[in-house]
Amino acid sequence: MESGQNRTGIAVIGGGIVGASVAYGLAAHGETVTLFDEGDIAFRAARGNLGNVWVQGKGAGGPAYADLTRQAAKDWDEFAHDLGAESGIDLHFRRPGAFFFCFSEAELERRSKMMADLEARATVPSRFEVMDNDGIRKLLPEVGSAVTGATFCSDDGTTNPFHLLRALISVFERRGDYRPRHAVAGIVPDGAGFRVKTQQGDWLAERVVLTAGLGNKELAPELGLSAPVRPVRGQIMVTEKLKPFLRHGISFIRQTVEGGIVFGESSEEAGLDDRTTPDVIQTTAKRAVAALPLLANAQVVRSWAALRVMSPDGMPVYAESAAHPGAFLVTVHSGVTLAPFHAGPLAAALSAGRLDPAWQPFSSDRFSVPAP
Ligand SMILES: Cc1cc2nc3c(=O)[nH]c(=O)nc-3n(C[C@H](O)[C@H](O)[C@H](O)COP(=O)(O)OP(=O)(O)OC[C@H]3O[C@@H](n4cnc5c(N)ncnc54)[C@H](O)[C@@H]3O)c2cc1C
Repeated sequence: MESGQNRTGIAVIGGGIVGASVAYGLAAHGETVTLFDEGDIAFRAARGNLGNVWVQGKGAGGPAYADLTRQAAKDWDEFAHDLGAESGIDLHFRRPGAFFFCFSEAELERRSKMMADLEARATVPSRFEVMDNDGIRKLLPEVGSAVTGATFCSDDGTTNPFHLLRALISVFERRGDYRPRHAVAGIVPDGAGFRVKTQQGDWLAERVVLTAGLGNKELAPELGLSAPVRPVRGQIMVTEKLKPFLRHGISFIRQTVEGGIVFGESSEEAGLDDRTTPDVIQTTAKRAVAALPLLANAQVVRSWAALRVMSPDGMPVYAESAAHPGAFLVTVHSGVTLAPFHAGPLAAALSAGRLDPAWQPFSSDRFSVPAP
């Protein structure tokens, strides 16, 4: 390799919550890491999400995902404490437990059965209760009469996702090389390593980890990887600050530490369109008022849309390229919830250069259908 060339040990491509968590964890293992991020023009789920550390119902399609989520959520206390102490930023992590509201008997029955099935198959325990409207009212007197019942899980929590991202990046900046406004145009396997191409020049990296969210889809094939992710739009609103009343979370509604009520639940196939639409905003607001009638008097001060990074089965993808060992892919839809896993066990494995065989259910091989 020529002299005067930018070099790094591990190039992490994409500085959203996933990339920042991985880079933070790798740097803690003493790795020389460069974190490249495209910048403000990019689609960034990390800056538009709800901030839930969410357990209940996760992994209905695969018990390995349920276990991964449950363990990561359990690790959130220590993670928030350590990252908060290192960065000096309070992540506003709270774990008061949360409800999933159902608006009909049939929905409550389906939900209870799904949760019971999941409980039976997962190995990391997580308790849940089924409540009717009276049961909810004991914990949350403001609940609307339209709510038939709920499942409640005490493992669910919330954080401030902006504080999380800021804290990860600020600690990483002290230990590694953070390159915002460095869009990666391509990555070329180059002898023993990889050539990372940006408009500001090329970097030679010994290893590379793709964490570019929706950007992974284009970057993966040149490394012999496959990231069949698609955007799924969600629209969110936040109200003026209200007196604290929402002690527990609700799947699609939470109260921030400052008092604003953040809510949103849409899941839309809208391609790369990240604009809000009046019909979804109206439907979401109506559902929120049905859940908590006092919200009818609250002023919405801001609304936005963001694009989820969704794999075909909704589960994470953790993969190493067979054609180009040393090239890894990390893409998930619950980057907030799984942050302790990405910064902890996953970063440790990437530092060692080998994914844990126990994570095979998350390999991208599951999307390859053998030819008949
Ligand atoms: C509406 C909504 C609500 C959500 N709610 C929750 C929740 O409550 N709890 C939860 O756990 N998760 C939630 N999520 C998901 C969570 O936000 C994502 O899992 C997480 O943000 C994904 O992080 P990411 O880093 O993979 O992707 P992103 O946040 O999209 O980041 C990708 C990054 O890669 C960069 N990038 C892209 N291409 C390139 C390139 N070529 N070169 C360099 N950089 C590049 C971009 O600049 C961007 O910063 C929600 C998502 C949405 C949209």
